[in-house]
Amino acid sequence: VREYVKDYIRQNGLLTLSVLAVITGCILGFMLRDLDLSTQAKIYFSFPGELLMRILKMLILPLITSSLMSGLSSMESKACCRMGVLTVTYYHWTTFIAVVVGIVLVLIIKPGYGTHLESSRLGGGQVITSADALLDLVRNMIPSNLIEATFQQYKTDIIPIIKTPVNTGRPNLVYLMPDEDNPKGRMVQLELTPPPDIEYKTRPGSSQQMNVLGIVIFSATMGLLLGKMGERGAPLVNVCQCINECVMKIINAAVWYFPFGIICLVAGKILDMSDPSTLGKKLGWYGMTVMAGLFVHGLILLPFFYFILTRKNPFTHIRGLLQAMVIALATSSSSATLPITMKCLLENCRVDRQIARFVLPVGATINMDGTALYEAVAAIFIAQVNEYELDFGQLVTISITATAASIGAAGIPQAGLVTMVIVLTSVPADDITLIVAIDWILDRFRTMINVLGDALAAGIIGHLCQKDFPPDRAAKANGAAQDG
Ligand code: ASP
Repeated sequence: VREYVKDYIRQNGLLTLSVLAVITGCILGFMLRDLDLSTQAKIYFSFPGELLMRILKMLILPLITSSLMSGLSSMESKACCRMGVLTVTYYHWTTFIAVVVGIVLVLIIKPGYGTHLESSRLGGGQVITSADALLDLVRNMIPSNLIEATFQQYKTDIIPIIKTPVNTGRPNLVYLMPDEDNPKGRMVQLELTPPPDIEYKTRPGSSQQMNVLGIVIFSATMGLLLGKMGERGAPLVNVCQCINECVMKIINAAVWYFPFGIICLVAGKILDMSDPSTLGKKLGWYGMTVMAGLFVHGLILLPFFYFILTRKNPFTHIRGLLQAMVIALATSSSSATLPITMKCLLENCRVDRQIARFVLPVGATINMDGTALYEAVAAIFIAQVNEYELDFGQLVTISITATAASIGAAGIPQAGLVTMVIVLTSVPADDITLIVAIDWILDRFRTMINVLGDALAAGIIGHLCQKDFPPDRAAKANGAAQDG
């Protein structure tokens, strides 16, 4: 029995602790809500959770750069090319399918009809065009300054210009896009009637988030070139392998702190949320549609693709990823979860190290099935609430813009809400305020599906590229990394 318990703790102890931490965090959060804690007390209480986020974020940059550079440098260019094309094609294809699932569900369930929500308009019509967003995506792919890219990504700003500031006391809610002071954006209540004449202008700007896409593209290029340089590139490759090993060691040690951090992270979020009873009535069906879509896509379709393409049991693979999914649920960030996803794939799912080092960082940047699905559902829901009938052409546009918006979204909390503006350009409605209230909770579940999508993709690409990376070569690469 002792052996069995020991074995169980070694294999599942951390996962069990993490799940218990999420449950404890929820219970604690709801219990403490009644105490009406001061803002200061909430800050102290959430502090361990903040530390957890900081540890994970600290590891993103060294992990992505070292993984891509050392991973790609040891591959032959033909194998690299094949893997790259397969990965990107698979990612785009599954994202598009996620969007279709979302659209079909929201058209069947119709969560927006008859809900009579008081909608508050953003005013000023469509504020950011798809072209603006596309330009931002390309700008982010080519960072003009690499150091700046580690803390800043390009994002077109919205500058509201209020033309008729007559204060007669009728509240008017406006959602402002993120800027340096308010990285998540903010709601502004304007006491203006008649409805304020607000003009929105867009201007290229920047925001305080790491430009992961730019870093991925730079590191992948460097990795490919290092591989071509042979002996001369070897010292840098060795450095990258050492960094990669160190990062994995830090993760292995830090995971034991995570359950404690998760309790405070989850409870802190619950302490901060608005009254769930009012939200339940208003947005319940919308939330359930998103959740149903995530369930169908993440637990039925993606495993089905995995099975068809690999002929292996997808749920064995998913079981190995549970730890990463709990962290995704707790942090709402697929980038922050990346180190744990990498650990799970290498240790539990036994995916080839070279494959995981490429597929995961790229996936955490461009593959967000959950986000794409949510954006399509949210856009159509907003149209339904406003009683707009969407024609087939508009649905096609929504599916394309939702796919593009998810590629452009960063793997950070509620990034999908921000890139929603791209999708809303295809709907004659723009009141994003409707869905803000429950976005934080949907964000957690869509992040889980984003992470799951990347990790299943790594398993599939690993299987399809087996010929290019025979086990002995992979073992040699692993051995080199261990030595490093
Ligand atoms: N939080 C999500 C992620 O990190 C992005 C989003 O949908 O907001 O994957």
